[in-house]
Amino acid sequence: MPLLSSEVIADRVRQLASSISSTYANHDLLLVPILRGAFIFAADLARAITIDHRIDFLQLSSYKGTQSVGTVSVDKDLNTDITGRSVLIVEDIVDTGRTISTTLDILRDRNPASLEVVTLLSKPSPRNIDNSIRWTGFEIDDVFVVGYGLDLDGRYRNLPYIAKTTTTVGGAFL
Ligand code: 5GP
Repeated sequence: MPLLSSEVIADRVRQLASSISSTYANHDLLLVPILRGAFIFAADLARAITIDHRIDFLQLSSYKGTQSVGTVSVDKDLNTDITGRSVLIVEDIVDTGRTISTTLDILRDRNPASLEVVTLLSKPSPRNIDNSIRWTGFEIDDVFVVGYGLDLDGRYRNLPYIAKTTTTVGGAFL
């Protein structure tokens, strides 16, 4: 059974889009989905947002170096000048917050009018960036999930729902 069915996700996406549409009415809104995990969420969210807006994409990758702290680097930067624009980062899931924190640092330096985050999912890891996350779709337990854009080794992004798995069982869980 899915953790979050496509109907439950669609209802929540509509609520988020409604709140985002009222918040940014009369603003120069730019959605910045973080590739690749947020692409399906962002596509549904953008179509449910009722105000005029732009979309541009940021692709990040994180890897572990010799130290235990992971590093996040930019694989594909924005093509849009965000100076003076109201930027809303669209993320699939926030776990430790490292990815979103790096993204905020990179974009804050470019002087947007505002910089906020909508994430579909959030895990209960300790972190200190929660003030920047204005909208969260669902709080989930500390489990590995796939579907609706989220992958396991590049697979399962196309599932229309979100399912739990573990990182070790690869493939056998659905
Ligand atoms: P953070 O940097 O907040 O620790 O992790 C965020 C990133 O890790 C997400 O953008 C996503 O790529 C990946 N991630 C974290 N938890 C999960 C999960 O349960 N499933 C999948 N597929 N990716 C996850």
